[in-house]
Amino acid sequence: MNAELRSRLEAIVGPGLVFGPGEPVDGVRPALAVRPGTQDEVAEVVRACAVAGAAMIPAGGGTAMGLGNAPARADVRVHLDRLDRVVEWDPANLCITAEAGMRLEALQELVAKDRTVLPLDPPGLRRATLGGLVAAGQTGPGRLQHGTLRDWVLGLRVVLPDGERIHCGGRVIKNVSGYDMNKLFIRSLGSLGIITEVTFKLLPMPARRAAVLGRFADPARAWAVVGRTLGSFLLPEALEFLNPEAARRLDMAPDTCVLAVSLAGSPETVERQAREFGAFIQEAGGTAEVLRDAAAVRAWEGIREVLEGAFEPILCRISVPLSATATLVAATEGMAREAGFRAAVTAHAATGVLRALLVPGPDPRPGEVAMALEGLRREAEAAEGNLVLEAAPPHLKARLDAWGTPSGGLDMMKRLKREFDPLGLCNPGRFVGGI
Ligand SMILES: Cc1cc2nc3c(=O)[nH]c(=O)nc-3n(C[C@H](O)[C@H](O)[C@H](O)COP(=O)(O)OP(=O)(O)OC[C@H]3O[C@@H](n4cnc5c(N)ncnc54)[C@H](O)[C@@H]3O)c2cc1C
Repeated sequence: MNAELRSRLEAIVGPGLVFGPGEPVDGVRPALAVRPGTQDEVAEVVRACAVAGAAMIPAGGGTAMGLGNAPARADVRVHLDRLDRVVEWDPANLCITAEAGMRLEALQELVAKDRTVLPLDPPGLRRATLGGLVAAGQTGPGRLQHGTLRDWVLGLRVVLPDGERIHCGGRVIKNVSGYDMNKLFIRSLGSLGIITEVTFKLLPMPARRAAVLGRFADPARAWAVVGRTLGSFLLPEALEFLNPEAARRLDMAPDTCVLAVSLAGSPETVERQAREFGAFIQEAGGTAEVLRDAAAVRAWEGIREVLEGAFEPILCRISVPLSATATLVAATEGMAREAGFRAAVTAHAATGVLRALLVPGPDPRPGEVAMALEGLRREAEAAEGNLVLEAAPPHLKARLDAWGTPSGGLDMMKRLKREFDPLGLCNPGRFVGGI
């Protein structure tokens, strides 16, 4: 199949843009890789793979490639990096349409020229592509004020697993009525097709930004400030808790945890909120530092990326009801102590999502690591949450399902998968329930 498929793909994209073998995903190496340059070429590539019965792995910037289970099969890695054009930019209507391989950072730089912003701040922002962002559904600390990706995607173009091209949603805000098909593809991890184009809503850029960093020797005092904030009229853009190990990775504090507050808006509101947060932090026994504009933006870049870039990382994401957030941070640290890991933990303190980077000791036994993570997953599930492996070495993924116990709706997801991808060619095995 390879030689025939290879020449078919070369006929579509041109020689030099098909190579092999492709980069592995969780230890599974596709025989071929292809770099189509247009949305039409993506459709033709997908059609050729469908005819050959070849399993496809779409790839953007590679920041969330570790998310999900190891692929059940991988024949062709489809790189979207050459699809990096802006299709339509409509500043008056605050929206932009761009191809899926465009990097989020490039889009942000462009729309900043019109003093607008796409308020999404996932980790890996520099390398993440628009398509990968939508497929993985990654959000960052700013989700507290701006919601998730679903709130900012107006429309998508997708190549279905048989090569058919579809357009769902709209290009302008007033178009989004009726059944929002594009929501199906958001966070579907490329299991239903390859996203080739995304339309986003934009937001006017705030006039002033500030960050307030509260340092606390006792985490309970930091969480008391979170509680006080939730009961107040203050509206931070993000509220992030960093345990001492995470704060140390940023050189933010030697031995304390940090509660970081992001503020954005008019200079008056930002300054007033900065003063009020400073007072909250001091009254709770912490020390407060206020950073403004460029210094604030730099501090948040560090916070967003603090858990990225570790070698052979174990990165998990735990989502729990808000009331269980502090307990799960402590449970993660406790599990790490017992298992001999170092654990850098950050939490979106007011939305109940925490991420933990676990660095095992010098001689980790994979079985023990898996058992420790299973214990933590049980605690998350007992709190009506879940633990998802965002990245882990292949030997660990072989022992531990990346998604945990599927929540309701798995039958529906399986039906959708059969409907869209009856041959199981799009990212097979990586999504929930082996989809
Ligand atoms: C195993 C699982 C499957 C889910 N399936 C769906 C679904 O098909 N559609 C839906 O609207 N909601 C699904 N949810 C629920 C979903 O997480 C939230 O209810 C909802 O989407 C709110 O998103 P959020 O951004 O707050 O989720 P978050 O709290 O940010 O994420 C919850 C966790 O579940 C993972 N996750 C999120 N969505 C899915 C998904 N579709 N499939 C697999 N893992 C997912 C994420 O990686 C994350 O770690 C699922 C949750 C889990 C744990």
